[in-house]
This record gives sequence, C-alpha cells and structure tokens, in this order.
Amino acid sequence: MSAKQPVVQVEGLSRSYGDFQALRRVSFEINRGEVVGLLGRNGAGKTTCLKVLTGLLLPTEGRVFLEGNDIVADPMAARSRIGYLPENPAVYAELTVLQYLRFIARLRGVSEAEFDALFEKVTSKTGLEKARHSLIKHLSLGYRKRVGIAQTLMGHPPLLIFDEPVSGLDPHQIVEMRKLVRELAQDHTILLSSHILTEVSRTCDRVIILHRGEKVAEFQGDELNNLEERFLSLTGGEMEVGR
Ligand code: ATP
Repeated sequence: MSAKQPVVQVEGLSRSYGDFQALRRVSFEINRGEVVGLLGRNGAGKTTCLKVLTGLLLPTEGRVFLEGNDIVADPMAARSRIGYLPENPAVYAELTVLQYLRFIARLRGVSEAEFDALFEKVTSKTGLEKARHSLIKHLSLGYRKRVGIAQTLMGHPPLLIFDEPVSGLDPHQIVEMRKLVRELAQDHTILLSSHILTEVSRTCDRVIILHRGEKVAEFQGDELNNLEERFLSLTGGEMEVGR
C-alpha cells in the first residue's frame, strides 16, 4: 500500500439495531501515525462504530477500509491489521499474564520461536515486567487494562483500537495510561473512544465528535484547547469533563 493511503477509511457508515439507527452516514479517515479520539456522550454511537471497524458488527450501509482492505469483502485481511481493546475485555482471570498472552499469540498466528522476544518487548512496553507470572485475577484494574493493551500488540497490528481505555481507572492510572498511549503512538496508528473530554484533548492529535449517531465535527491542533466549549455548543447539555 502507498504511504499516503489512509490506514482507516470510513465512508457513509450507518448501523441500525432493529428500527434504531445508532450510526448515521458517518465518514472519516485516519492517517498513519495519528492518534484520533472518538468523543461523544453515552449512547452517541462510539462503541458501535468501533465494533464495525473491528468486524464484530456488520455495517447496515456504507463501507470501511483498513489499509485498503474492505472489512466486509475481505474481513480476515482487514482484521489482521487491528489490535482491539474492548471496553470490558474478556481476559482470562485464572491464567497468568504469560499464559494469557501466549494463548492470544497462538490465536494470532505468532510462532513459538517468535513469541519469547515479542512477549519481552510487549510486557516491557506496557510496564508488565513484574506482573508476568501473576494471575490476572490478582491484578488491579489498571494492570488488567495493561494486559488488555498488551494483547492488542500480539501479532504486530499497525492499527490499535481502544474502547474507553481509561474507564474505571483512578487518576494516577489515567496518567499512566495516557503516557502508554502516547508511547504506543510512536509505532502505531491509534483510534480510541472516550466520553471524557480532557482525556481525548490531552491524548489525541485529532478528535471526532459523535452525537446521536452522527459525526458533528472534527477538531485538531489549537482547536483542542477549548474543546469543552466547542463540544457543549455542538451537543448541548452536561458533559463529563474528567479529571
Ligand atoms: P457508551 O459510552 O454509553 O457505551 P456509546 O457512544 O459507545 O455509548 P453505543 O454503545 O454505540 O454508544 O450505543 C449507541 C446507541 O445504540 C445507544 O442508544 C444504545 O442504547 C444503542 N445500542 C447499542 N447496542 C445495542 C443493541 N445491541 N441493541 C439495541 N440498541 C443498542
């Protein structure tokens, strides 16, 4: 693929649940190396959008390409480009971090020969060195989220998709997670969702605002300095500003 081709292309994406339209004709692109945030109030359609991108839900209308691969026509090729952290990751509590990441690596086709080096790299990147042999059920939520992020890195996906990566974390863990996302951004393109305004404005290069299933605006650079005002004037009502 050419260096200029967007990593993500979303064209007129709609998704309904029965009669209810959760996403309406949403279009955006994400270029290589960008950290982009999907910001919206609860129910705005963020999770639905991320689930369509990761192939967990089919679009009702519109098209999505990941590195040029159509997620409907060529789902396997598209999915191989993504590491996905769901809002509530199903990590296996009875396994150690090492056992869990080995299991995920096998699912993603990482060879045994490659695994040890990848495990070292990923656990050091995510700050899990000391927790490698801990049972996941004994880890704090912040560390479990790190395990969730570590699993996204198994198999070298160029695109990371994180659904509400800071939800449930305490202020210290939020700061740590923000640093981790910025570090990962050195080698990945990242799309994350959040309903916390400060989180996206501090972590992301560009912010896409979803409101009632529609994309209502995109902001970047200096525009992120007064995101709160911009957000409220677009969506009205209260917003969780965050810590
Ligand atoms: P939150 O942060 O609260 O999860 P969100 O922006 O991620 O919000 P979605 O989870 O995508 O929003 O939900 C968008 C809308 O679609 C909401 O009104 C939600 O109630 C509805 N919805 C989501 N999943 C389903 C489903 N499986 N069946 C019916 N409606 C659904």
